[in-house]
Amino acid sequence: MLWKTNKNGNKEFLGGQESRHLAERAALECDMFVADDEDECVSDEPRSCYNCRYRRWTATAFECLKT
Ligand code: SF4
Repeated sequence: MLWKTNKNGNKEFLGGQESRHLAERAALECDMFVADDEDECVSDEPRSCYNCRYRRWTATAFECLKT
């Protein structure tokens, strides 16, 4: 399980901000991925939720604004 619904009612990643492989897997399973601007990309894996236009960083992880 990669996600939870947070107190704002949004989908939040359970892997935190350092789980590159999980974030890649999540993006490979998602057909809504859109690469963010290059200077906003933080992962070496091109297709990763960490590099997606629809992720919004939280204190400990990120929310997905699209799914
Ligand atoms: S951040 Fe959301 S929209 Fe983007 S790839 Fe991950 S799950 Fe899909």
